[in-house]
Amino acid sequence: MNMLNSKERGQVITANGLVSPELLGRVMMHEHLHCGFVAEDGALVTKETPVPATRRQYLLDHAAPLLRRCREEFGMKAYVDVTMPPWRGWPDLYRDVSRASGVHILIATGFYREMEVGTYFVKRPEDAIWNVVRDSPVEALAALCIREIVEGIHGTGIRAGAIKLGSSQTPLTALEMKTFIAGARAQRETGVHITTHCTQMGGESSQLTLLDREGVDLSRVVIGHTAGALMDPAYRKTMIEWMKRGASFLPTNICVQREEDWKPQWQLLVDAIHAAFDAGCGDKLFLSLDGGYCSVTGPFGPVTYIPPDPWRYLFTDVLPAFRHMGLTAQEEEAIMVANPAKILPVR
Ligand SMILES: [Zn+2]
Repeated sequence: MNMLNSKERGQVITANGLVSPELLGRVMMHEHLHCGFVAEDGALVTKETPVPATRRQYLLDHAAPLLRRCREEFGMKAYVDVTMPPWRGWPDLYRDVSRASGVHILIATGFYREMEVGTYFVKRPEDAIWNVVRDSPVEALAALCIREIVEGIHGTGIRAGAIKLGSSQTPLTALEMKTFIAGARAQRETGVHITTHCTQMGGESSQLTLLDREGVDLSRVVIGHTAGALMDPAYRKTMIEWMKRGASFLPTNICVQREEDWKPQWQLLVDAIHAAFDAGCGDKLFLSLDGGYCSVTGPFGPVTYIPPDPWRYLFTDVLPAFRHMGLTAQEEEAIMVANPAKILPVR
C-alpha cells in the first residue's frame, strides 16, 4: 500500500517540490548542509527549531555559492541531505539554499544511531540517541517519518524525499532496531529509498537482514560509509552477494591528497568498483563525501575531516584521482548519474 498518489511515483521529492529524475545530473548521495549538534550557546540540541538568522545567512553566503559552483562547473544538480532530527536544519533552509544555488536537495527523515558515551558530544548515556527515539513506540516513529514524506516537515509543506537510518556496531542495539522497523514501515508506505549509516564491517548484513525481514525491497536500500568494507578484498564477496540481492553501497569520507589519509589504499576502492561492475552489479554503487557544515567540533562551519571545498572536493580532487587509478568514464557516469536517477524517484 503506497500512500503517495500515482502522479508522484517516478518523481523525486525535493525541498523545492517534485523533480523528474533526468534533471538530477550528477548526485552526491550523502551530504550535510546543517549538522547543528550544538546551539550558539554551546548546549546540546535536543529539539528542532528554526535555524538562527546568523547561521542561516552564513549558509546562504557560503554553502549556496559552493553548491552553485558544483552545478555550473561539474553538473552536480542534486544531493541527498542525510542530517537527522534534532540536528537537521529547518525545512525552509533547504528550500532557500536550493533556490539560491539551483541544486535540488532531498531532505531525509528518519533517525540517527545510538552513539557510545565519550564519542562526539555524548557525555551522558541519555544523550546517546535522540530522546524521541527512546520515548516513542515504533508506531509513532513510523508515523513521524510518513508524515514528513507525505505531508511535510513541521507543518511547512516541505517534504522529506528519503529515509535515513543508522547503527554503530555490527549488531544493532534495541533502540536502533526500533528505528529500523519504523523506517522499514515508512519505506513500504511511501516508496522513497532508505540510506544508512554503517561503519562497521558486518553492520551491512545486520541492517539488510532486518530490513529484508520487515519486507523492504532491498533494491530501495543504500548502505552508507562502506568504503572500508568494499576495500577489504576478503570481505568484498559478501558485499557483492548483497548487491545481487538488490542492495546498494555508498563509499564516503574519501581524502585523496595526503599520504597520511592512506592515499595509496584508495586504489583498492577503485579495484572494488571494477569487481562490482565485472559481477554485473555496477548499478549498485554510489559515491559521496559526507561533507558539509556542522557544529560538532566547535563553532558552526565546514567539517574538518574532508579537505575544502565542501562538496566541490569530490569533483576537483577525488574523481580525477580515481580516474588516474583506472576508474572509467562509464563507471563514473553510472555511479554519479544513472544509478541515482534510478533509486531516488518514489517507487
Ligand atoms: Zn553523514
